Amino acid sequence: MRIGIYPGTFDPITHGHTDIIRRSLRVFDVVVVAVAPNPDKHPLFSLDERLDMVKLATKDLQHVKVTSFEGLLVDYVQQSGAHAIIRGLRAISDFEHEFQMALVNRKLARNVETVFLMPSEEYSYLSSTIIKDVAKHGGSLTEFLHPDVAQRLQDRIKRVIA
Ligand code: ADP
Repeated sequence: MRIGIYPGTFDPITHGHTDIIRRSLRVFDVVVVAVAPNPDKHPLFSLDERLDMVKLATKDLQHVKVTSFEGLLVDYVQQSGAHAIIRGLRAISDFEHEFQMALVNRKLARNVETVFLMPSEEYSYLSSTIIKDVAKHGGSLTEFLHPDVAQRLQDRIKRVIA
């Protein structure tokens, strides 16, 4: 059974992320979405809230598991018996950072591969950061987020602004 681990902050999960999860399911038998606490990034949502939203957005997908992890990603990958790290590549701008991370991870754990998948063109400009900006300015979120995730983001933005 081939297991792929898709790590990220998912603050919040967008259609770009779910596009990558769907594509990963064509390559792996099981995809584990692993939410990282990433306090340095000062996420808008708590770890539990992000986990909850990933579960909501992937509830109709079979063979997807949702969990969180702490510490080094490669340690988590090795402990869970997974075969590869999955990362999404949007534009050329993602490449340098992702390339660096993949090579550092390979230095740390020679047997852990990183697999890059490209999203559908319509999501290739999408990021959680941009979506939070759209929400702050009252823009429509329906094309970018699962409806329940969109509602939670709108509620959170209202509370933060109030
Ligand atoms: P991180 O903080 O680890 O970058 P993110 O939640 O921002 O966490 O992203 C997790 C992964 O998903 C990264 O590999 C990122 O490049 C990818 N990703 C994010 N948005 C998209 C998108 N719209 N299309 C494809 N991949 C994406």
